[in-house]
Amino acid sequence: MGARIDGKMKAQAVRAAVAEEAAKLTAKGTVPGLAVVIVGSDPASQVYVRNKGKMAREAGFASFTHELVATVSEHELLELVRALNNDPAIHGILVQLPLPDHIDEQRVINTISPAKDVDGFHVQNVGRLVIGERGFVPCTPLGCMMLIKEQQPELAGLHAVVVGRSNIVGKPMASLLLRESCTVTVAHSRTRDLPELCRSADILVAAVGRPRMIGGDWIKPGAIVIDVGINRIETGEGKSRLVGDVDYEKALDVAAAITPVPGGVGPMTIACLLKNTLDAARQLAG
Ligand code: NDP
Repeated sequence: MGARIDGKMKAQAVRAAVAEEAAKLTAKGTVPGLAVVIVGSDPASQVYVRNKGKMAREAGFASFTHELVATVSEHELLELVRALNNDPAIHGILVQLPLPDHIDEQRVINTISPAKDVDGFHVQNVGRLVIGERGFVPCTPLGCMMLIKEQQPELAGLHAVVVGRSNIVGKPMASLLLRESCTVTVAHSRTRDLPELCRSADILVAAVGRPRMIGGDWIKPGAIVIDVGINRIETGEGKSRLVGDVDYEKALDVAAAITPVPGGVGPMTIACLLKNTLDAARQLAG
């Protein structure tokens, strides 16, 4: 029987440390400021944005939310981002994704000042991560890495399999694992014999978005399993619940340790957003 990795508890510890440092920075005259921009009224995005604002305030940050209608033009959104770039009270800018189809997401992200790009999605920060330079690392993979390192501080030589190759999770996760000298395999929808590949993983990160796709018999005994997936499934009588990409109960029997959904990677994402914003505030304050 493996261990349940408690992301909620770890996230609380990260947020407490951030709050402590934020108080010190505030005493020196800089209140860390996070601006979150949301376009449209997608309910899931609104929940995420509310949570981010709440957690930011709890950490002692100044939190600013900009809600724009779904029909806002790309030009207006870019103007807002430029204004936030120039606002000295703002140290971190996050544009909640996805954006409506008429807006070029990457153009918006690349308009955010790289020094305030606390999501780590700007092409400059992506490049820095790949070549091993200091920059902002996307929050979800950063949180995953903290959880992995807590289980296993020395990762060199281990085989890490990342299932999923998105720009926000899979690819940066692979870069981080490579930076730790893992041998990294990135799998995706065209990968052949995925179960066999997963069974060779000392570290398995699932970021697919398919409920319980990864079965217990896909897990190598003793592996560390990080489940990034968040999938809502119907449980009958109009009720639903969240599950990950991994069959948690079955995998728990085989793995050394595994993150649950909810309560695993999710809370770490917001904690790392606050950590990145604190780092941005420190750097911008000199
Ligand atoms: P994307 O949809 O952008 O990427 C999914 C990836 O999974 C793609 O690379 C896709 O391959 C791959 N894939 C799809 N089907 C299969 C399959 N049958 N076998 C192997 N690979 C497959 O998703 P995201 O990366 O944005 O998110 C992944 C999951 O993580 C989602 O459930 C999301 O909700 C969750 N998430 C959770 C966060 C958190 O804070 N905990 C934060 C961000 C995301 P291909 O490229 O070939 O299409």
